[in-house]
Amino acid sequence: MGADRERLKVLAERMSAPGAKTAVFTGAGMSTESGLSDFRSKDGLWGKLDPMELATATAMRHNYGEFHKFYSNRFVQMEQALPNDGHRILADWESRGLVSCIITQNIDGLHAAAGSSVIYELHGSVGRVRCMDCGNPATRADFIDLKPCKSCGGRLRPGVVLFEEGLPSDALDSSWSASEEAAVFIVLGSSLQVSPANQMPAIAKRAGAFLAICNRDVTPLDGMADYRTNEGIGEFLKELDSVIGD
Ligand code: ZN
Repeated sequence: MGADRERLKVLAERMSAPGAKTAVFTGAGMSTESGLSDFRSKDGLWGKLDPMELATATAMRHNYGEFHKFYSNRFVQMEQALPNDGHRILADWESRGLVSCIITQNIDGLHAAAGSSVIYELHGSVGRVRCMDCGNPATRADFIDLKPCKSCGGRLRPGVVLFEEGLPSDALDSSWSASEEAAVFIVLGSSLQVSPANQMPAIAKRAGAFLAICNRDVTPLDGMADYRTNEGIGEFLKELDSVIGD
């Protein structure tokens, strides 16, 4: 019990205030407690493979074999992952009116699996496979099995944003608006090193939001945060949940 606990109480009060909107921003760290690899930490996925060679639009066009192998492996890993306590607490908070939206960099679909419904997926989702050429939707199993597009015979691709591609404008627009309107902005498991991820918390903060950051490693926005912790996300959310109470 100390200054941190006092700040946590302020955070809980802001979230519980009538009409207050809380936006939650999640990155790869959100899913590590579900057993999925982190991207940028030393033992993360990017440490072993070069994403600049595999998760790119260039690889998809010119090295489809390796590209397909990389995403098939990720899909299989993601299919085995289950939502963790953190995902479940966020879904519960949404149902209690404590969270208005989740902005996520994750493509694993675990927020939806936990029961959250207002989710802005900045990097798309593994669930939405489509044809590279005509955009016709297909299933994840079709992609893994290397089936051609049923409409034009083209190759299939995951519905995720690759390096060299732009972010989906609808998810992006909704996220900017949510950042501006937020009374509370909570960052969970993102190193905040990539644009626009690093801009959304700053915009929220400038618009008057209480900014909380829970991330294992330091982030460029730590100095701006009203509450900062490097504890595990599940641990942090459980603690905050107990301060919020019923
Ligand atoms: Zn097609």
